[in-house]
Amino acid sequence: MPRPIEALVHPAALAHNLAVARRHAGDARLWAVVKANAYGHGVERAFEGLKSADGFALLDLAEAERVRGCGWRGPVLLLEGCFEPRDLELCSRLNLWHVVHTAEQIDWLAAHKTHEPHRVFLKMNSGMNRLGFPPQAFRSAWARLNALPQVDEVSLMTHFSDADAPRGIAHQIASFEAATADLPGERSLSNSAAILRHGATPGLRNDWVRAGILSYGSAPDFPERGIADWGLLPAMTLQTKLIATQQLQPGDTVGYGSRFTAERAMRIGIAACGYADGYPRYAPAETEAGAPVLVDGLRTRTVGRVSMDMLAVDLEPLRAAGRPAGVGAEVTLWGEGPGGSRLPIDEVAEACGTVAYELMCALSPRVPVRCLDEDGADPG
Ligand SMILES: *Cc1c(COP(=O)(O)O)cnc(C)c1O
Repeated sequence: MPRPIEALVHPAALAHNLAVARRHAGDARLWAVVKANAYGHGVERAFEGLKSADGFALLDLAEAERVRGCGWRGPVLLLEGCFEPRDLELCSRLNLWHVVHTAEQIDWLAAHKTHEPHRVFLKMNSGMNRLGFPPQAFRSAWARLNALPQVDEVSLMTHFSDADAPRGIAHQIASFEAATADLPGERSLSNSAAILRHGATPGLRNDWVRAGILSYGSAPDFPERGIADWGLLPAMTLQTKLIATQQLQPGDTVGYGSRFTAERAMRIGIAACGYADGYPRYAPAETEAGAPVLVDGLRTRTVGRVSMDMLAVDLEPLRAAGRPAGVGAEVTLWGEGPGGSRLPIDEVAEACGTVAYELMCALSPRVPVRCLDEDGADPG
């Protein structure tokens, strides 16, 4: 029998979450952001759930080829644009739209030979200070791009640093609007947090919004709000089984470094999941802390250091509930558990000092992934 760990991808949840994004997005068209192998879900698997999107946005050229390989003929946007001049050949061949964020990318386009002119998204750095032309250089970049025979339509884009945070987006909208107000072209500003939280902000104009994390069933503003508050569903479940149990006496310790000490007699279970599967090693190891986990659908916590292939869970809440668990019990690390139980990935990420993005993306290639169809049944 294979090691019991597996990840499930829920296409129906992806479709549901994308519909939530659409409800918040007004008339804007929707990019499904599928970078980083669809946030760890797998481009092809996620495609099934997200194909009602108006386009797919990503940044790896090989992933763009995979989206085309799914049969998608609609828009595909490269969020970081081209990394070198010859990438433009693939853009021409696969009809990829691409972001232009540096003068070098304009130079490459100017030297590119293409039959069909390219659709580009010119990116402004409105305060994130990662990619894009500063506001004072934006107009001349736009004029240069707009004059190129290689360019079809120029759209305008920027990215928010604080759509999920108290600082908000008003300062970046002001900077973007000041530099672009009279420029023609479609606009794309909002990420998941802006879609959900700032849809009604005055001055925010979107012809395209970019839905990433929300589609995968994480609340971009957790812990202020959780997926239940936004009506989102987990798109990924990570599950395994108990492969052993141990009875501890007071003073006994658990795992490497003896970071957990039992204060009273207690039973623990050993689950077949460790950091080599993508589970965070930063789960708190000390007594009374731990990260949340479900065993047979009941909520408990991890105890001690997470190892490469295993982690320990506290079985006392199950005993207290009259549902003692042993070898073979179902362990849900995040996502949908048995009997309608659910552990949002945001809660695990929060306990481990990280974000759901990182946990999803870190799912290890050694974990088998299964896609569930609409009824939650396994299509085989
Ligand atoms: C990743 C990314 C997004 C999606 O962000 P979420 O927070 O996951 O919605 C949107 N725009 C750009 C430019 C990105 O790189």
